Amino acid sequence: MSTRAGIVVTGTEVLTGRIQDRNGPWIADRLLESGVELAHVTVCGDRPRDLTAALRFLADTGVDLIVTSGGLGPTADDLTVETVARFCGRELVLDTELEATIAAILRSLMRRYPDADFEAVMAANRKQALIPAGATVLAPVGTAPGVVVPGDQARIPTIVVLPGPPRELQAMWPAALASEPVQDATATRTRYRQQTVRMFGLPESSLADTLREAERTVADFDRLEITTCLRRGELEIVTRYEPDAPAAVAAYTALVGLLTARHPREVFATDGSLIDEQVAALVAGRTVATAESCTAGLLAARLTELPGSSAYVAGGVVSYSNAAKSELLGVDPALIEEHGAVSEPVAQAMAAGALRRFGADTAVAITGIAGPGGGSADKPVGTVCFTAALADGRSLTRTVRLPGNRADVRERSTTVAMHLLRRLLSDEPTAAL
Ligand code: ATP
Ligand code: MG
Repeated sequence: MSTRAGIVVTGTEVLTGRIQDRNGPWIADRLLESGVELAHVTVCGDRPRDLTAALRFLADTGVDLIVTSGGLGPTADDLTVETVARFCGRELVLDTELEATIAAILRSLMRRYPDADFEAVMAANRKQALIPAGATVLAPVGTAPGVVVPGDQARIPTIVVLPGPPRELQAMWPAALASEPVQDATATRTRYRQQTVRMFGLPESSLADTLREAERTVADFDRLEITTCLRRGELEIVTRYEPDAPAAVAAYTALVGLLTARHPREVFATDGSLIDEQVAALVAGRTVATAESCTAGLLAARLTELPGSSAYVAGGVVSYSNAAKSELLGVDPALIEEHGAVSEPVAQAMAAGALRRFGADTAVAITGIAGPGGGSADKPVGTVCFTAALADGRSLTRTVRLPGNRADVRERSTTVAMHLLRRLLSDEPTAAL
C-alpha cells in the first residue's frame, strides 16, 4: 500500500477566492513526486471549528499524513497550531530555544523600525513558540516556525503544519519531508515514481484510442496508474508506478514505446521537460526577437519566464495596429491591404521586420483573430498565422484555427509559437505544424 495524504489549505482569503490557492497544488505536486497518494485537498476559513472539521474528515478517511497551510502568524486569527494541538490531544508547551530564535529574527527585522516597541511585538510573537508536546519544530523562514506532530497509529495521522506565504511554505518543505515523523509515516509503504510524457497536436480522443490499445497489448498494464490532461494546448500523460517492481517498470517502458511509435510527431517530451525548457535549450547562443499582434507581448513574456533568458531574448514589438506593423516592423501597407493583417505574408513580413529591427538571428511573429469580434467566413475567430524565421533564410509559416475564447486563443497561440520554434531549430517533425 502507498502512503495516503490529505491537504488542508486554511485562510478565509483563499476560501473566498480573493487569493488564488498556490499552496494546495504545490504540495500536491511534491507529495506525488515523493510517491505519496493524495486523497483530498480541502480549503477552509480561519475558524478553528472549520479546521477541526477538515482534520476530522481527513483522519476518518484513514490518511497517514495531513499537511496544513496557513494560520501560523502572530495575529489573533492565526490559530492553526493551537487547533491542531487540541485535535491531537496534545498540550502546547513553550519552546524557549525557539522563542530565542524568533526574538533574534524579530530584532533584526525591527532594526528597520526604530520607533517600534520590541517587547509588544515579542509578546504577540511569543505564541509562535508554543509547540504541541512531542512535535518536531521546522525552523522559521519568516518568523513563523512550522511543526510536525507525530500520528498515534490509531486515529490521528501525522500532521505537518506549514505557514501560508508560499515562499515560506516552499522553503520549509524539504525539512518537513525529512522530519522523523514524516519519514516514519511514509517509510513502511510502497515507493512510487511519477513520470510525465507530453504531446502536442493530438486530439484527446486519439490518445484515448492509443491508451485502449496499450490496455490490450502492454503486459501488466494494470500496474500503471495513468492520468491524462489537456494543459495549455498540450496533452500531459502522468503515470505512477512502482519503480522497485520490474513488471511495472517494463510496462511503463512499453507504454512510452507505444506512444512514441504511434505518435512520433506529437510526443515532444518523455522526460517530463516542458516546451519552454526545450526552446530555451535550442535558442542558447542565439538572439531571439518577437513580433506580436493578437498576443500583444504574451510570447515575449513567456520566453522570459525562465531565468537566464536575458542571454538570448533581445526583445519584442507589440504591433497591434496596422500602422504599428508598418512603422515599427516595416511591413508594407500594400501587403496588409492585399492579404489582410491576419495572413501568412504579413506574419512573414513581421518576422523579417523583427529580425532586422533587433539584429536578431531568430524571430517569431504572431498575427491572429482572438475574438470575440473580428471574424469572417474565411478567417473565423481563432485564426492565427505564425512565422518562425532564422537570419540564414530558413523559416516556417503556419495558419492554425484555435478553439476557445479570447483568453484561450491568446494563450494557445504562445504554445503554437513555441512548438514552431522548436521545429525550426531542431529539425524534428512537430505535429499539426
Ligand atoms: P503570516 O505570518 O503572514 O500571517 P500565516 O502562516 O499566518 O502567515 P496566513 O495568515 O494564512 O499565513 O496567510 C498569510 C498570507 O500568505 C496570505 O494573506 C496570502 O497572501 C498568503 N497565502 C496564504 N495561504 C496561501 C495560499 N494557499 N496560496 C497563496 N497564498 C497564500
Ligand atoms: Mg496569518
